[in-house]
Amino acid sequence: MSAIDRLFSDPLPLDFEQAKDPLFLEAMREALSHHQKNSPEFASLCAEEEFDPSSLVDGEDLQRIPFLFVNVFKEYQLLSVPKEEIVLALTSSGTTGSKKSQNYWDAPSLKRLDDSVLSIGNQLGLFQLEPTNYILFGYDPREALDVGTAWSDENIQRLTGGAKEVCYVLKKDAEGEYRFDLEGTLEALIRFAASNLPLRLIGFPSFMHFLVQAMKETNTPPLSLHPHSAVITGGGWKNHRGEEIPFSDFCQELNHQLGILPERIHDIYGLVEHGIPYFTCSKGRFHIPSFCRILIRRPGTLEVLPPGERGLMQIMSPYMRSVPTISLLTSDYARVEENCPCGLSSPTFRILGRGGVVKHKGCAIKAAEILGRT
Ligand SMILES: [Zn+2]
Repeated sequence: MSAIDRLFSDPLPLDFEQAKDPLFLEAMREALSHHQKNSPEFASLCAEEEFDPSSLVDGEDLQRIPFLFVNVFKEYQLLSVPKEEIVLALTSSGTTGSKKSQNYWDAPSLKRLDDSVLSIGNQLGLFQLEPTNYILFGYDPREALDVGTAWSDENIQRLTGGAKEVCYVLKKDAEGEYRFDLEGTLEALIRFAASNLPLRLIGFPSFMHFLVQAMKETNTPPLSLHPHSAVITGGGWKNHRGEEIPFSDFCQELNHQLGILPERIHDIYGLVEHGIPYFTCSKGRFHIPSFCRILIRRPGTLEVLPPGERGLMQIMSPYMRSVPTISLLTSDYARVEENCPCGLSSPTFRILGRGGVVKHKGCAIKAAEILGRT
């Protein structure tokens, strides 16, 4: 078994011990050599930076790994495997008119990504093998086949014993525009609450916020969902007026209107160009799993900053075989924090701003636009 696959078979990825470092470094050396050998663009980047993968011997050396700016993958299709090996292609749900982010997975990379969702979800208590109903606050994958959010919504369903019933809140109207099906979603919600099965709400938080507001406005009495119910959010944190929805208010209103425990509400951070989902813990911080590392760089000089300082976020993981996204400089501002009070030992990060003016606001803007039409 390769070091990369051993790294991804870690059953407790959110336990971060120094003893796990040598395996991470070995996996990074393996992955760097693969991309250097199979991607001429990545090879020339390493040559220009005079970087040799075998020189990677301790944690400090990670800073020397050349990185690619995330926007490069909007402009170019860089592959480290033959095209025929690609089994999944996804695009981000960017705003119309802007270039969309894309990514391409071969079978081994996709397997590692799947394993990462299962092991992280399991450690957070989200893996429960009982029949579960779903409300997906996003696009119906039958209508939006290559949109990344639709795929990740589907993928998250693997954390339960299968979907008893799935309700999609976005439906295409006669003009082909997505609309929020408020009436259908409310009806499904009330029915699911009476079913005595857990319910999972997954997707854009702006739509969930809109739904609970509508419950209040229509005097729908608060519901008391099964205690194993959970919420996994990702994407738009803006309401239909374009205002930010604070995470703590959101948890409170979902707890009050639906009876969902605040510790069972998890936000996900992800980038199409990277793929691995980062989940918040009960303290609302994104935990870094053992198969990833995050560096924070000062904008301008790009020097690496110590934990606690705000800067541009660089993500590293050796999992991807098909595209050289092994070390990505994102346009997001973040801060790394250690010693999370939730009890998980892995370091965490907070997103402090999204730099990509058009692309990264894509999801939030799109969600606000759809709500504006509803
Ligand atoms: Zn935590």
